[in-house]
Amino acid sequence: MTVRELPPVSSLTEQQRRGRRCTWCGYPLAPGTDVDLGEQRATAKNGAAYSWFPRACADTGECAQQEAQARQ
Ligand SMILES: [Zn+2]
Repeated sequence: MTVRELPPVSSLTEQQRRGRRCTWCGYPLAPGTDVDLGEQRATAKNGAAYSWFPRACADTGECAQQEAQARQ
C-alpha cells in the first residue's frame, strides 16, 4: 500500500483525529474495515504537544471516490 502524506491535523475534524472517521474522505469507519495509520505527534498553537490517531478506509479505491464526492 502506498503511504500518502497525511493532511495537516488542523484541517481535520475531531472525529478524524480520533480515528472514528477516515482521515481522507471523512466517512465513518467500522472496526475491521479500516487501516491504522499509527500514532502521530503534533504541536498545538499554544505549543503543547499531543498525539492523534489517524485511521483510513481499507479500500483505497472506494476512499478516493468518497473523497472526490466530499469535495464537490
Ligand atoms: Zn476514506
